[in-house]
This record gives sequence, C-alpha cells and structure tokens, in this order.
Amino acid sequence: MHRNFFSVLRQKDAIFQGFRMASTSSIQGKLSGKVAIVTASTEGIGLAIARRLGQDGASVMVSSRKQDNVSRTVEQLKSENLQVEGMVCHVGKAEDRTSLIQQTVSKFGGLDFVVSNAAANPAFGPILDTPESAWDKIFETNVKATFFLIKEAVPHMEKRGGGSVVIVSSFAGYTPMEFLGPYSVSKTALIGMTKALVPQLSTMNIRVNCVAPGIIKTKFSEQLWKTSAVKDMLMQMIPMKRIGEPSEISGLVSFLCSDDASYITGETTLATGGIPGRL
Ligand code: NAP
Repeated sequence: MHRNFFSVLRQKDAIFQGFRMASTSSIQGKLSGKVAIVTASTEGIGLAIARRLGQDGASVMVSSRKQDNVSRTVEQLKSENLQVEGMVCHVGKAEDRTSLIQQTVSKFGGLDFVVSNAAANPAFGPILDTPESAWDKIFETNVKATFFLIKEAVPHMEKRGGGSVVIVSSFAGYTPMEFLGPYSVSKTALIGMTKALVPQLSTMNIRVNCVAPGIIKTKFSEQLWKTSAVKDMLMQMIPMKRIGEPSEISGLVSFLCSDDASYITGETTLATGGIPGRL
C-alpha cells in the first residue's frame, strides 16, 4: 500500500517535471526572462523577429492592425511552444501604442526590448509627384510613431535596470530608391533618430540600434521580386545574387537585444547581401 502510494507520487512528480520541462524548454536561451514588444509582427520581418526572440527565450507581445492576423500568429507561435501574447496595435494610433505597452507590462510583468518594425508606403513614383497626404502618412507611421512608442516604453525599461531598442530602417535610408523617395527619406530619419536617442537612453542603460535590411522576400516588397524584369534588375544590384529571407534579419535583431551586444549602441547594421550602404 505504502509502496504503491510512493510510486504513484514519484510517477506524478515525473509527469509534472516532464510537463515543466516541456512548457519551458523553448524559453531557455540568451534572452530568457526578458520581455519584448515587436510591432507589425504578424507577417514578414516582424513575424520572423517575434519568432526568433521567442526561440531565444524572450516572452513576446506580437501585434498588428488586424485582429485576425494577430489571432492566427499567436496560435501559430504558441503551437511552436513559444511564450507569446498578442493584441491589435495600429502604430499610428496613440491609444493603441499606449495599450500595447500597458498590456505587455501587465501580462508579462515588465518590458526589456522594443522592436519598432512597422512602416507604411502609400506612394510609388517620382518624388516630385508625391502628395502631401502621402508625406504625412509615411512620416506619421514610420518616424513619429517609432519615436512615441520608444518614449512611452522607456520608463518601463528603466524600471528593469535597462534594455534594448531596435529600429527597423532600410538600405534605402542610405541610398534612396528613385520611386520610393519619401519612404527612403523616412528610413534615413530613423537612422538619425537612432543616434539622437543615444545620449539620453545611455543614462538609463538602454541601448538603441537600427537594422537596415536589403530586399527581403515579404509581401511589402512583392512588386520588386515577383516581376521578373524588376527582379533581374535587382540581381544586378545584389552581389550575393539572391533576395534575403526574413529570418536573415531576425538573428541580427536578437543579437542586438542580447548581452552579446552590450557595448553596441547608436549603430545601424546593414543586412543586404552586399548592396553597399556606406564605407
Ligand atoms: P510585410 O511582410 O508586408 O508585413 C507587414 C506587417 O505589418 C504585417 O504584419 C501587417 O499586419 C503589419 N502592419 C502594417 N501596417 C501596420 C501599422 N500601421 N501598424 C501596425 N502593424 C502594421 O512587411 P515587411 O517587408 O516585413 O516590412 C517590415 C519592415 O521592414 C518595414 O519597416 C519595412 O520598411 C522594412 N523593410 C522591408 C524590406 C523588404 O524588402 N521587405 C526592406 C527594407 C526594410 P496588419 O495588416 O494586420 O496590420
């Protein structure tokens, strides 16, 4: 009777132990115990970043404008045993940004990393033809929303003793694309914003860096790689002769968030397959 009782207990313990390992195994990594917000993370580069931060141990709040996309992404990433929650956040709406930060802190108990990845590009054509409404939309979404998201997140990161901000710019921020003029200028502004934030964020032990992807295979860039004439032209530009994958950006973001990058701040890193940005 006793032996039976103890063997049942041992069995139960083994089951619980196994369960504990199964439920936390995916969150052991260099970012274990950290909490991240990734904007525009239900597709493309943002989704790859959310997945990678989760695989490296962080708890991640995913978000984008559409609830269906958020629900699908959360379900997918949870099925991969990653620690994620999700909510709608249109980065251009101040109230959405505020609740993204508040809900992240209340669900996960704090905030360590902010990845500002959302961008809009409503205009394609010669720069002199761009209407004012397109300039407003591009700067509201790409530049102002990034700044105010970071500003609102900073006090929470400071409470944790520090953190890391990563801004997603583009190689076009260095070399403007002829038919994406205002978008390119907004990406240049983000490279400048990264540097401008350094002095104040450094006093709070928060690092801020930027990534500048080349042409990456996502919906956003579909027009560039789906049309074979345009793709051929692009291949002339890319020394590695291939379009990048979202996962080729996410490892870099995870590195910049991690302690391996503890002395790196104010930097923009190009990941372009060799498209030159600067010396
Ligand atoms: P993507 O695959 O088209 O994904 C766009 C994501 O953004 C979706 O999850 C979308 O979901 C969300 N989204 C769109 N507008 C939003 C908004 N206002 N607020 C919140 N979420 C929003 O795009 P991507 O290529 O991964 O681009 C991500 C970032 O990389 C952008 O900053 C882009 O400028 C930059 N980038 C891309 C390339 C490239 O070649 N792909 C190159 C250089 C830089 P909902 O529809 O649900 O909102």
